[in-house]
Amino acid sequence: MQRLDDLLFAQGFGTRRQCAGLIAQGLVQVQGSVCTDPAAVFPPQGLRIAVQGQPWECRSPAYLMLHKPAGYECSQRPSAWPSIYALLPAMLRQRPAAKGGRASGVQAVGRLDQDTTGLLLLSDDGAFIHRMNAPRRHVPKVYEVSAAHAVTAAQIARLLEGVVLHDDPQPVRAAACEATGSHALRLTLTEGKYHQVKRMLAAVGNRVTALHRSRIGQLALPADLAPGQWRWLDEAQLALLQ
Ligand code: URA
Repeated sequence: MQRLDDLLFAQGFGTRRQCAGLIAQGLVQVQGSVCTDPAAVFPPQGLRIAVQGQPWECRSPAYLMLHKPAGYECSQRPSAWPSIYALLPAMLRQRPAAKGGRASGVQAVGRLDQDTTGLLLLSDDGAFIHRMNAPRRHVPKVYEVSAAHAVTAAQIARLLEGVVLHDDPQPVRAAACEATGSHALRLTLTEGKYHQVKRMLAAVGNRVTALHRSRIGQLALPADLAPGQWRWLDEAQLALLQ
């Protein structure tokens, strides 16, 4: 159980004092009824509240997926394009650091290029982010690639055998690779080097014209999650990532 003012604070609705003020002013509803007592206690997980008319489902820690659209940078301080963080409600960016964590707000689990679309995970659970990014865990990531030139069997064979990128003598290889059209292929990577898909395609004499991440581990981007939309991960989806 958690006090309502603490709960709002943990969800990112402002300082404890601001949250207590919102509650005392009658601007907070809990499960459909106004609650004006900052000290009232509720079970926090999944609690449905509305703050100044804005509905919110309380979740701590936060685990969510975003369908990243093209034209957004995965950076808090983007250089040329808007930030993916602008696609999220302010509360998710403002919530205080989770227990044991250093950073406040949710953070992306890895990055996608500005022009790449698809599945991106975000969380404020530092251990989860670390686990998902740990190179030795080899979490497979599936990319749908549109290519400038026809995809050949020789290119697929080389992507599977391994290609050498200019900044590392160790070859990088696709864990799986198949043509999905004359100018399209599906590539699974278990590591995440800078611009890896684009550089691998260039190394075999082709070029990426569009890149979409469709899956991380066993978790697929849901067909009904439109570009720019986000959604909490449910228990089953989270279990797929453990
Ligand atoms: N590989 C790339 O080249 N770009 C991405 O965004 C992801 C993987």
